[in-house]
Amino acid sequence: MTPDGILIVGGGIAGLATAAGLSRAGIPCEIVERAEAWAPVGAGIVLGVNAMKVLRSLAADAAAIAGGTRLGRGSITDHDGRPLATTDFAALEPEFGPTIGLHRAALHDVLRNVAPEVPVSLGTTVDALEPHEKYVEVRLSDGREGRYRLLIGADGLRSRIRQLLFGDERIRYSGYTCWRMVVSSPVDSVAMREMWGRGHRFGVVPIGDETVYCFAVANAPRGREDPPEERLERFRERFSGFGGQVPDLLRALAAPGDLIHNDLEEVRQGPWHDGRALLIGDAAHAMTPNMGQGAAMALEDAMVLVELIRDGVPDAEVPARLHARRATRVRWVQDQSRRIGRIGQLEGTLACRLRNTVLRLVPDALNARALRRMAEADV
Ligand SMILES: Cc1cc2nc3c(=O)[nH]c(=O)nc-3n(C[C@H](O)[C@H](O)[C@H](O)COP(=O)(O)OP(=O)(O)OC[C@H]3O[C@@H](n4cnc5c(N)ncnc54)[C@H](O)[C@@H]3O)c2cc1C
Repeated sequence: MTPDGILIVGGGIAGLATAAGLSRAGIPCEIVERAEAWAPVGAGIVLGVNAMKVLRSLAADAAAIAGGTRLGRGSITDHDGRPLATTDFAALEPEFGPTIGLHRAALHDVLRNVAPEVPVSLGTTVDALEPHEKYVEVRLSDGREGRYRLLIGADGLRSRIRQLLFGDERIRYSGYTCWRMVVSSPVDSVAMREMWGRGHRFGVVPIGDETVYCFAVANAPRGREDPPEERLERFRERFSGFGGQVPDLLRALAAPGDLIHNDLEEVRQGPWHDGRALLIGDAAHAMTPNMGQGAAMALEDAMVLVELIRDGVPDAEVPARLHARRATRVRWVQDQSRRIGRIGQLEGTLACRLRNTVLRLVPDALNARALRRMAEADV
């Protein structure tokens, strides 16, 4: 029996980008997605220059730019909005292209529209799988059984495929928890801002149509509940020490459901594959969002994976070749992101004062270096 093709598990950023790339290369694939329907997902997202490079390779960059906001600069400020560090995205744009902010739902739409012909089974997952030398045998939750030349686990942080392949749990809690929201804001700005307080951070990202995406981070024990009763009051109180635009944004929240809350976690998985079954994106290497690079890494995984398959690398070698190309870069970003989080979440008065002084002294050219590294490196 000839294997059926390529199965992608998860229709998120990594899965949709892989399907888009394969389809554009004329390589058949299909997606199974656990969600029953394509519902609007999450809040906002920042796509750095390297994420935009992948969208450009899919001819999807123009649609993403049209659906969001070109960000002119990114700043870190203190809790009151006084600048500590700035990266001038606009100045770097001629060389590296734009950095944009957009709604996650818009990004999903953009990716889905690249290859609408790819078959998608919604409300479906993988119940069982077995890697063999020449194929992966799969039983789906809708009762279908199949053999695939490659099985791509793009099913996010709590990956079922990772669990089926490797069993034990690889999730690590960062020590801080996060709320996200999209709020309408008449302030016309192209600047994204992250305000650093003591043990708390508050970020504001314009995403177009007079709306901003906000994220708010606080040190907290793992798994602390945030029930809907008085959620808004607790949230406003928790972030009441922030100045600038924040008080207005806190007032603009109308219902507990406006806040998406989750602990920030990461996945340290090695290896990412067993035979022809492999993991990409958050399933393989979820990271803290402090560098705003998780989706970018997922998109880069997708691009490299498509390139390997398209260039005729034998299927059996594809998973190991992908890992060899990606692991070092991804680990660097994970580590950097963890480090930034540790500094951003400092709590002590003296430690924060020292941190802010040091940040103020760092020349902006150094801040641009990280962006340059993300843009220039061979993925
Ligand atoms: C607070 C926060 C802010 C962030 N901000 C940024 C940012 O600004 N920029 C950036 O680049 N990254 C950011 N990230 C990271 C980014 O969100 C992730 O890295 C990215 O979503 C990973 O994409 P993915 O496709 O691997 O996983 P996901 O986006 O999680 O997609 C997984 C998909 O698989 C589906 N699925 C799950 N389980 C199954 C199953 N068993 N069977 C079938 N389907 C399944 C899910 O429904 C989903 O559609 C942020 C993350 C957080 C938590």
